[in-house]
Amino acid sequence: MENKKEVLLSLKNAKTYFPIKKGVMKKTVGYVKAVDDVTIDIYKGETLGLVGESGCGKTTLGKSILQLINSTGGEMLYNFGGNIGVKNLKKLTSAEMKLARKRLQIVFQDPQSSLNPAFTIFGSLEDPLKQNGVAKREDRRKIIGDLLEQVNMRSEYMDRYPNEFSGGQRQRIGIARALSVEPELIICDEAVSALDVSIQAQVLNLLKELKEKKNLTYIFITHDLSVVEYISDRIAVMYLGKIVEIADAEALYENTLHPYTKALLSAIPVADLDKKSKRIVLEGDVPSPAKPPSGCTFHPRCKNCMDRCKTDIPALKKYMVDGKEHFVACHLMEEQQQATPLSEQS
Ligand code: SF4
Repeated sequence: MENKKEVLLSLKNAKTYFPIKKGVMKKTVGYVKAVDDVTIDIYKGETLGLVGESGCGKTTLGKSILQLINSTGGEMLYNFGGNIGVKNLKKLTSAEMKLARKRLQIVFQDPQSSLNPAFTIFGSLEDPLKQNGVAKREDRRKIIGDLLEQVNMRSEYMDRYPNEFSGGQRQRIGIARALSVEPELIICDEAVSALDVSIQAQVLNLLKELKEKKNLTYIFITHDLSVVEYISDRIAVMYLGKIVEIADAEALYENTLHPYTKALLSAIPVADLDKKSKRIVLEGDVPSPAKPPSGCTFHPRCKNCMDRCKTDIPALKKYMVDGKEHFVACHLMEEQQQATPLSEQS
């Protein structure tokens, strides 16, 4: 992928803030900064893992990209290709938005939520097809049958109801639903978190297989670092609405640089005792995004905290580690290595 990196989606200083309202007049007294100044490129054909503890803003970021939540600031530039070219997802015409709704899809943690229990699978999956101009019922049945076979299920299952399937089967149906409109980018939001480990592996393998066959791009959102290593090409780590580290999956696990990522990785159970590092126990809870700590928001929990960490916000900067790009937002790294600020990179 190094040789032919084509940017599909470029987030520039993306922000999603939720106002905190108080009193009879519902006056805005502050903001919950769920996504705060996120800048990252997502390349065509890659799987970007987006990880962090619950409440770090990763799901809000996913929903902001899909325009399911209004973002507050910054740009989300999507490369539609062809005559349309690169457009800000926040400023699309209605025709472009219709196209964006096809190109960008989501698979939820709970597939039940996207399947109406009163409808058969055919009933649930035919809607997006109707909206995209597949007028004849027999054509929709043929397409849905094929989609079910692509996710390793029998085509005749389309006449059954959601409660007749296991969690893993429902997740396959959720994937088939996302695929029905031939998307380019799929956001998998904790897509395997609710499944048993053996079923998780089957669904992850299916996602990998479909990605290759259909040239898909994934943003794989999860709190589970052992899952994300298996499926991701690159991994971005979020803490309190900000990205604190981005690297190739292998580089992130081999040369972990940010103290927060080190603590997350040290908590993964490892079968090989030689590879087991000492668990780093984080002090305290994740602070509220409504009242984030000053400077580096991780400083109250960081054992490497220095004076400047309490006042200065560390910028995400590029470092070269073993010849590979590695982005980190940490003052400790700035003192140890020469970095290139993100704004100065081509
Ligand atoms: Fe720790 Fe300071 Fe780095 Fe924040 S900037 S992670 S407090 S060393």
